[in-house]
Amino acid sequence: ATPTAIMVGTGKGAEQGILIRGGESLERIQAIEAVMLDKTGTVTQGKPELTDVLVLDETLDEETLLRLVAQSEQGSEHQLAAAIVEGAKARGLALAPEGYPTRFVALPGRGVEALVEGHELLIGNRRLLQERGIALDALLSQLEALEQVGKTAMLISVDGRLAGLVAVADTVKESSAAAIAELKQRGLAVWMITGDNERTARAIAEQVGIDAEHVLADVLPEEKARQVKSLQDLGMVVVFVGDGINDAPALVQADAGIAMGTGTDIAMEAADITLVKGNLQSVVSALELSRATMRTIK
Ligand code: ADP
Ligand code: MG
Repeated sequence: ATPTAIMVGTGKGAEQGILIRGGESLERIQAIEAVMLDKTGTVTQGKPELTDVLVLDETLDEETLLRLVAQSEQGSEHQLAAAIVEGAKARGLALAPEGYPTRFVALPGRGVEALVEGHELLIGNRRLLQERGIALDALLSQLEALEQVGKTAMLISVDGRLAGLVAVADTVKESSAAAIAELKQRGLAVWMITGDNERTARAIAEQVGIDAEHVLADVLPEEKARQVKSLQDLGMVVVFVGDGINDAPALVQADAGIAMGTGTDIAMEAADITLVKGNLQSVVSALELSRATMRTIK
């Protein structure tokens, strides 16, 4: 396209809350064949809420377990941690400053490890507990039931023994399903990628009309970019849409990276396009804008 057409297109984008960096990305997205969407904060609202607390170990009551877990999670910056801390407070639990973990380790793609009130806690996914040799059998059916309805359940071990689980729910954005339907209508392959587990991911995907075979779950943070690359290796032009720190390498790897304006600064810095409204309908608008811009020069 001519520089003038691009300038006009960029201006129109800005009016619609689509902030485009450089004209090339506007040109590139008209050729896209696949869209890879991050789950949390992109397809979903990214504001999970604590919904379930389940205690296994009879030596601990629910309040004590939730307090230990919430105090551990005070050390974490993850959205899941915030949901647990908020949920504990909403249930009237006092999280004393002296209850702050004396030792805390964030384990990306897994969970957290903390020492609170003299107890060694692990909170996270199957991968984390399995790696530490903790048997999950006693909670497996409950875990799967929660995941089946799209919740993210986190297993808890206290002093090396499985003690219970907490679950959070993150609702899909109102606009996601319609936007995804429009992208598919335009012939694009729509993928969803997440560090969350397969069952939860599929339940969310189903709510927004993404096919189960286009769901990539249990993806470690550093592997998101590699997944973009493997679609590109099949010859596809790929757009990645994300919001988190974890998404930055994938946003850079993609033929065009689109960040949610509601997300982290790091994602926006890595992206070619930022969507001020933070909803997927703007991805459709960006595509339209790109095609209109390219048409004006033919
Ligand atoms: P995503 O950002 O896509 O949810 P992450 O890689 O950050 O993926 O996390 C993957 C999984 O690791 C989560 O679904 C959760 O089970 C576990 N996890 C990560 N951080 C925490 C945390 N602070 N507390 C408990 N579990 C966690
Ligand atoms: Mg996200």
